[in-house]
Amino acid sequence: MREYRFAKIIATLGPASSDVGTIRALAEAGANVFRLNFSHGTHDEHRARLDAIRAVETDLGRPLAALADLQGPKLRIGQLEGGSIDLAEDQEIILTPEGAEGTIALPHPEIFAAARAGVVLLVDDGKLRFDVVTATPERIVARTVVAGRLLPRKGVSVIGATLPVSALTPKDRADLAFALSIGVDWIALSFVQRPEDVIELRDLVGGRARIMAKIEKPSALDCLEAIVEKADALMVARGDLGVEMPPEVVPRMQRRILSVCRQFGRPVVVATQMLESMITAPTPTRAEVSDVATAVYAGADAVMLSAESAAGRYPVQAVAMMASIIRDVEADEEFWSGLRVKRGEARADVSAVICAALREAAVALQPAAIVAYTTSGNTGFRAAAERPRAPLLCLAPTLEVARRLCLPWGLCPRVAAGVGGMSDVVHVASRLVREEGLGEPGQTMALTAGQPFGVAGTTNVLRIERIDG
Ligand code: PGA
Ligand code: MN
Repeated sequence: MREYRFAKIIATLGPASSDVGTIRALAEAGANVFRLNFSHGTHDEHRARLDAIRAVETDLGRPLAALADLQGPKLRIGQLEGGSIDLAEDQEIILTPEGAEGTIALPHPEIFAAARAGVVLLVDDGKLRFDVVTATPERIVARTVVAGRLLPRKGVSVIGATLPVSALTPKDRADLAFALSIGVDWIALSFVQRPEDVIELRDLVGGRARIMAKIEKPSALDCLEAIVEKADALMVARGDLGVEMPPEVVPRMQRRILSVCRQFGRPVVVATQMLESMITAPTPTRAEVSDVATAVYAGADAVMLSAESAAGRYPVQAVAMMASIIRDVEADEEFWSGLRVKRGEARADVSAVICAALREAAVALQPAAIVAYTTSGNTGFRAAAERPRAPLLCLAPTLEVARRLCLPWGLCPRVAAGVGGMSDVVHVASRLVREEGLGEPGQTMALTAGQPFGVAGTTNVLRIERIDG
């Protein structure tokens, strides 16, 4: 039987990986989801990359997902008189929204509204640090704690305050409309601070894509459970998280985010600097290999490559390396025994009960495959959340639903149109299980579906069948 990989790989596309040949090689090496990073590149470039992803999908005959990652409210220093300012340590500085004479321009009135004594401004990826002494809506007086040359338009992180800003800037709204118009499968939102940010995005998306909340603000960690409830998936966005918080806190936050997501049954992605040294080297450091393995052992649904695949010299090798690490972890019995988590209390939800039973069936019967017929995709998500130890074939009625299921742990989505009843499911499932090299006639498979057919939210059948043929 063929080898089956459960944890997924997200590869960011960029200048190093925009042609069909490279994208095909990335998919063949194991990438399941491709990220279009709207912090960089033009709409035309993103459209061309999506076209290439779709061409590769057709070519390989299996769904691939596209994730559009919106930049979010990235705050920046304004223009500076004289081009830059050299700041000394322990110097008093004044910031104003319009950059009045002798002050530093910070063109974000919302920072002035939220700042108070004790709030910290980290500038330029944390290279400079200003501690707020006093703040009014017109001016912030601060002290330089870490000083150096301040350059215009550098990013600003506000530590210790929740800003009353929408998570979606005008650029994000334009990017979102574009991403939906070209038909991406997932939308990620950066710098989410509150569950309302996710709700606002969902209103705009209206079911046209699944939604991922990127956790990279300390304020998001104050309402993590509420955000997890509203999102379809989370990303541990360690790059900015490690600027907004001291880097030594990031591992603890990663553990916490993974634990809450597993408890709520939400897919979770671990991202940033996973194989960073592979931007310039064909092999990773041992510490990086260990970092990827740690995320997989902790039950992450997916691990992500950023610059390694977008702008590095070895994008395909980086994906292949991740796939090898995942395979090695998943071959370890300890991985499977450590994977179980306490889920929220059992709800009177038939679909959830059936998916929990799938897990038991996988242990007791060791089926060649579990096959979930899922109209909306929700049963696929629930089945993945249970982490059953068997290949998880998802039969979706459309390619759109199938693509969204490329992200959650363990799912192998396929399109099965025109399935009208349980006997169709058995037959189609048998054929696909055989075609995928997952099982042979006579072996056991566990099936779930909902009756009546084709109606979302009706999963109510668990059947144990023999693969026909
Ligand atoms: P980014 O998000 O790559 O869009 O910044 C990921 C992160 O911050 O880690
Ligand atoms: Mn980020």
